Amino acid sequence: RSGAALTAQLRPAARASPLPTVCRRNINSDVRITRTGKPILTVAGGRSSLGGYTATVFGATGFLGRYIVNRLARSGCNVVIPFREEMAKRHLKVTGDLGRVVFTEMDLRNTASIEESVRHSDIVYNLIGRDYPTKNFTLEDVHVEGTERIVEAVAKYDIDRYVHVSSHSATLDSPSEFYRTKAQGEKIARDIYPETTIVRPAPMFGFEDRLLNRLAGPTNLITSNWMQERFWPVHAIDVGMALEKMLHDDTTAAQTYELYGPTEYSLAEIAEIVDKEIMKHRRHVNVPKKLLQPAVKYLNKLLWWPVGSPDEVEREFLDQVFDPNAKSFKDLGIEPVELRSLTYEYLKGYRSEQYYDLPPMTEKEKREEKKYLHVID
Ligand code: NDP
Repeated sequence: RSGAALTAQLRPAARASPLPTVCRRNINSDVRITRTGKPILTVAGGRSSLGGYTATVFGATGFLGRYIVNRLARSGCNVVIPFREEMAKRHLKVTGDLGRVVFTEMDLRNTASIEESVRHSDIVYNLIGRDYPTKNFTLEDVHVEGTERIVEAVAKYDIDRYVHVSSHSATLDSPSEFYRTKAQGEKIARDIYPETTIVRPAPMFGFEDRLLNRLAGPTNLITSNWMQERFWPVHAIDVGMALEKMLHDDTTAAQTYELYGPTEYSLAEIAEIVDKEIMKHRRHVNVPKKLLQPAVKYLNKLLWWPVGSPDEVEREFLDQVFDPNAKSFKDLGIEPVELRSLTYEYLKGYRSEQYYDLPPMTEKEKREEKKYLHVID
């Protein structure tokens, strides 16, 4: 008899099943153990990967939110997204495979809705923040009381990790209410849940930012400090990457990270780069602080779209400050991207159609430099 016929006779079960046996040896799977000893199974498989973790991301509908939701969902983690406005969350649905991204309605003053959002999770990210007070929420309501409610829910349900996104320059004695309330929020988070990981991003740039888009926009830029405030702009995607690393590295628990870019700029220097990149000159108007602060306070009450606030004017007079004890990108093994290397990418939409095929400003400068060297030679 042939070998195949003999095998078929010896293994009737194999003969009955027409399907080949699945070989599982090549599937890249792993079991991770969380800080509290919970096993998490991860399986790599492209868009259908299994990330194993369940993460809640508060403030996911904002600018930074999409860069962390996208990373978690595409690696197969279940992402719970508490939201307020139906239309503001739609773009997040497609960041992961079907069923990976789950939405739940939440109100910052409704403790039951907050608890419902966190109770099934292994990690909670809090990205909620506002640059200006609104009709219904003061800065303290958002940064201090809101944080307190979220952290209490995290502690109540014994969630493994809590990552709190604060702000650069957050100090308790800052003249700016925004920085002060951010520091109070950090303190409350650490008091209630000592393993809180605090993240203080520098002003962020990216596609939906309020830095490059504000400077490149067609409306006049009105400031009080001649755009002299100095800071280290950071790429939103780098911050998203750092937030994801914090999920997989439990040594980041109870640590404070200040995430900033490699170069210091003043706002005026960035405005110059933006003008060169978009090949237009945007007008800047300087109004003394004593006049601008009451004007924006009045307009903020009258108009229903963001027009600035007295505290934002105050922040123009404060340079970014650093905490010497805080960790940074280096401790996470990430090299932050330089702002200049991406301005072409983010700002080409502001160029006139006459210049659509010109190279990025940096390449143009390099070419001009080469031409000049050639003449000398
Ligand atoms: P955005 O302003 O783009 O998003 C803020 C998020 O917070 C939104 O999802 C918003 O929800 C939510 N939120 C605000 N107020 C409330 C409230 N009262 N109740 C419920 N949700 C609320 O912020 P970014 O993504 O730019 O920033 C993320 C975090 O990083 C914030 O905490 C911010 O303060 C901080 N940060 C940002 C910097 C930057 O340059 N962008 C610099 C330094 C710190 P909704 O969509 O419903 O309004």
